[in-house]
Amino acid sequence: MRILKTTLLAMMLCAATAMGERADAPHQSERDRMVRDQIGERAPWGRTKVRDKAVLDAMRRAPRHEFVPGVSISAAYSDRPLPIGHGQTISQPYIVAYMTEMLKPKKDQVVLEIGAGSGYQAAILAEIVKEVYTIEIVPGLGEQAAKRLERLKYTNVTVKVGDGYHGWKEHGPYDAIIVTAATSHIPPPLIEQLKPGGRMAIPVGPPFQVQQLLLVEKRDDGSVVQRSEMPVRFVPLTRGKE
Ligand code: SAH
Repeated sequence: MRILKTTLLAMMLCAATAMGERADAPHQSERDRMVRDQIGERAPWGRTKVRDKAVLDAMRRAPRHEFVPGVSISAAYSDRPLPIGHGQTISQPYIVAYMTEMLKPKKDQVVLEIGAGSGYQAAILAEIVKEVYTIEIVPGLGEQAAKRLERLKYTNVTVKVGDGYHGWKEHGPYDAIIVTAATSHIPPPLIEQLKPGGRMAIPVGPPFQVQQLLLVEKRDDGSVVQRSEMPVRFVPLTRGKE
């Protein structure tokens, strides 16, 4: 009986702490509102709601304000992309959530991202999957993203500076690949590094205009099918010197 009482008390204390932490987490209410009003149940008319619970939970957890420059912290949870320096942007929260859902991420998976930028998309994936590898072509951004992710204890993300066009063969093949910069075509090395049954989200189209967000699926027999999900606008995928 005594043991039972202690256990009950411990359970109650645990619950209280968990709830307390959640309510006290910086910007938690802004994140909850962002998910509800921009992405989930109350997403604006015309937007396909994101329903994957793991994705919504990840968006509620990851501290987006840590991934934007100091001057933009007050806008971190607003419904738009924001500048992150070097002419690059962190995507709008809805696009991050939508693209993550497209990949159907699962906790035992390994995912490759091209275009680390601030590291935010990688953090969202890292909340769900086992391992994330991400490549950034601008050294300043890549180094900053790596430091930030380390400080925030995203220990399952590895950042590399380089040209992501070639993928990252060493850690592949991948369950999913996400490209967060616009390309004129799907880089063949990325298709090669996708597992059979794997999924890729990639914006394809002309630079500085509207692109199509494509879902590319590699079937178990190795054949590739693609379909267009929605029009998007991404900064261009630039190419390193060969
Ligand atoms: N996913 C990022 C936002 C991406 S913005 C985030 O969550 O913040 C697109 C990024 O792709 C930019 O940082 C840009 O420098 C990078 N990029 C452009 N071309 C690239 C390439 N060939 N390889 C890797 N990264 C590239």
